[in-house]
Amino acid sequence: MGQTHKIIIIGGGAAGFFAAINAAENAKSSSRVVKIQILEASDSVLKKVRISGGGRCNVTHNIFDVRRFCENYPRGSKELLSAMLRFQARDTVDWFLKRGVKIVAEEDGRMFPNTNDSETIVRCFLNEAERLGVQVLINHNVTSITKLSSGSSSGPFHVNVSNKGSMMADSVMITTGSSQHGYRFAKELGHTITDLAPSLFSFKISNHLLSELSGLSFSHADVQLIVGEKCFKDSGPLLITHWGLSGPAILKISAWAAREMKMADYKARLQVNFLGGEGFESVLAMVRKLKEDNLKAQAINIYPERLTKRFWAKVLSNCRVPEDKRWADLTNKELQNISETLFKTEFIVLGKNRYKDEFVECGGVCLKEINFKKMESKICPGLFFAGEVLDIDGITGGFNFQNAWTGAWIAAQSFL
Ligand SMILES: Cc1cc2nc3c(=O)[nH]c(=O)nc-3n(C[C@H](O)[C@H](O)[C@H](O)COP(=O)(O)OP(=O)(O)OC[C@H]3O[C@@H](n4cnc5c(N)ncnc54)[C@H](O)[C@@H]3O)c2cc1C
Repeated sequence: MGQTHKIIIIGGGAAGFFAAINAAENAKSSSRVVKIQILEASDSVLKKVRISGGGRCNVTHNIFDVRRFCENYPRGSKELLSAMLRFQARDTVDWFLKRGVKIVAEEDGRMFPNTNDSETIVRCFLNEAERLGVQVLINHNVTSITKLSSGSSSGPFHVNVSNKGSMMADSVMITTGSSQHGYRFAKELGHTITDLAPSLFSFKISNHLLSELSGLSFSHADVQLIVGEKCFKDSGPLLITHWGLSGPAILKISAWAAREMKMADYKARLQVNFLGGEGFESVLAMVRKLKEDNLKAQAINIYPERLTKRFWAKVLSNCRVPEDKRWADLTNKELQNISETLFKTEFIVLGKNRYKDEFVECGGVCLKEINFKKMESKICPGLFFAGEVLDIDGITGGFNFQNAWTGAWIAAQSFL
């Protein structure tokens, strides 16, 4: 029997658990002796998994074409491609199924455990870690990492833990998510940290068209964000909140424009087509047809199918059309104004807001310094990374967890 290889994983979140479990399983199947410890600073593990996806955990996304999958990462798509060819969304689904957890897709492609409860994922990880002898140490706040001999192809490392002294490891993995600690450790070991900025946030907007409509949603809107000289486009469901706009269309565009929005202090212009997918001419034709077919009806009572009456009332008020005016009496100018409001209303974005949705950090450990075949540092051999600590982030929909699963799985093949 060979010497025990000691692996310390810093951070008991999604990537940390996935790496630990897979590494323990690999060691078991190759009869290698390992000691795997997860050090978690707080008093409980897997906190984000628990609250993710509104308590349902959006585990991954139902796109099994790796190239298409990687298009959903504003940062890291190129580097992730080779990694995902080895462990992708389909492998995630199989991985959980092998452990008795069925992952199912919703119409929009997001995938959840069929229990619709993130606790299923948490339980699966805790059971697997226990079965495979992974040691999970909570209240272990790592304060620094030192590599004892800088030239060696792996450790040993000293991992210093607040009030608990120093622990020795042959391999160390940093899976501290968006915590500042992880970025500091990486920097102290020679890595570059790219500019950090929040991603996946809602927009603060004050506009008559949205007032008193909080909670109202649109199934498919096109959005265009103009930040300084740059223009970003996306589409998807849109939600009116107490303070402005949210929903997948907004979260996605906030991810694409994360760095530019930070530089512009979250001031931008946002153009919305509330009838996403329709061009201006077809919106105008639709409104004209409503008139033609409903000459005697009052304007408030007839409106495009995809809209609600509450929103339609706002559109009429915005275009100064009295609600009780008969469709027959609406002028061409009024039809034009209504169509323009639906097709392209411009809002001033005043700032950012976090809604209930996921929130991730854009920026992190520079990807050029990582060997994606192993998820190992090119600067400090024996040091591994996965998850949000890297300069990789995805749009909303399960892509951020998939980044954690993929990186962690690859690292788990490479520790020994
Ligand atoms: C509200 C919310 C909902 C989300 N929902 C989804 C979703 O449904 N689908 C999706 O794909 N993504 C979702 N995300 C994003 C996703 O949760 C993260 O991308 C993912 O958790 C990153 O995994 P990670 O392992 O890198 O980091 P984390 O899961 O954040 O884990 C990092 C761990 O490291 C620990 N740590 C930090 N510093 C130290 C230290 N010095 N010593 C020891 N431990 C330390 C932290 O306490 C934490 O437990 C959501 C995010 C939020 C905030």
